[in-house]
Amino acid sequence: MSAQREESDDADVAHDEASFADLGLSDVMMRSLAKVAYETPSPVQAGIIPRALQGVDVLGQARTGTGKTAAFGIPILERLNEPVKDRRPRALVLTPTRELAVQVRDEIDRLASGRKLRSVAVYGGKPIKSQISRLQRGADSVIGTPGRVLDHLSRGTLQLDQLETVVLDEADRMLDIGFRPDIEKILRRCPKRRQTLLLSATVAPPVERLAKRYMHKPEVMDFSPKGKRADTIEQRYFT
Ligand code: AMP
Repeated sequence: MSAQREESDDADVAHDEASFADLGLSDVMMRSLAKVAYETPSPVQAGIIPRALQGVDVLGQARTGTGKTAAFGIPILERLNEPVKDRRPRALVLTPTRELAVQVRDEIDRLASGRKLRSVAVYGGKPIKSQISRLQRGADSVIGTPGRVLDHLSRGTLQLDQLETVVLDEADRMLDIGFRPDIEKILRRCPKRRQTLLLSATVAPPVERLAKRYMHKPEVMDFSPKGKRADTIEQRYFT
C-alpha cells in the first residue's frame, strides 16, 4: 500500500516498473491493449486492476485523465470474457453525464476488440426508443446516467438480476448533481453478491457514506496527486 501511495504522487505518469504482463491479464486483453497502444499501465491501473480481478470492492480516489476508465474497464471485460446465452447485463457503470457515459462505452468497446461482447450506453436527452431496442438485442454491459437507468428499470427494459459488477464513476460529481436518491434506488435493485468499484476525484463524507452503505469492505486506494494541487491555484489578495 505504501508503494501505491508513493506512485500516487505522480498519478498520471506511467509507472516505469509496472507492466500489463505482470497484471495477470488474458491473451485476448493483451492483444487489445497492443491494438490501442497502451504500453504501460498508469498507476491507477497498476493499483486497481489486480485487486479488482480478485473480486475485491475498491474505492479509488482518482481524477479524470489518470486512466481510471480502463482501470475498471479491463477487470469488467476479463470477467465478462465472452457473451452468455441470455445476454442480460453483467456489468453496470453509472456516470454523472451522458458525455461520460458515451466516453466510457467507447473505451470499453475499444478494449473489447476480439470479443463478441456488446455494451450499451443509456442516458437522458435522447429518445429512449433506440436505447430500448439496443437493450433488447442484448447487452453484456450497460453504461448510463442514473436517471435514465432508473427509467429503463421502471419500464422493465433493463434487468439487473445478472449483474456481477457495478461501477460508480465520478461518484462525487454524481452526488453533487443530486443523483443520490437515484443511485440508492438502483443499488438496492442490484444483486447483493456483486463487486462494487467506486471512483471519485474527492472522497468527502457523502462519498464515504455511500461506500459504507453499499460496498463490501472496500479497499481504499488514493491516487490523488498530493502536494501538487497548489501548482494550479494562483493566490492573490488585495488590501
Ligand atoms: P481516463 O482517465 O480513463 O479518461 O483516460 C485518459 C486518457 O488516457 C484516455 O484517452 C485513454 O485512452 C488514455 N489511456 C488510458 N490508459 C492508458 C495507458 N495505459 N497508456 C496510454 N494511454 C492510456
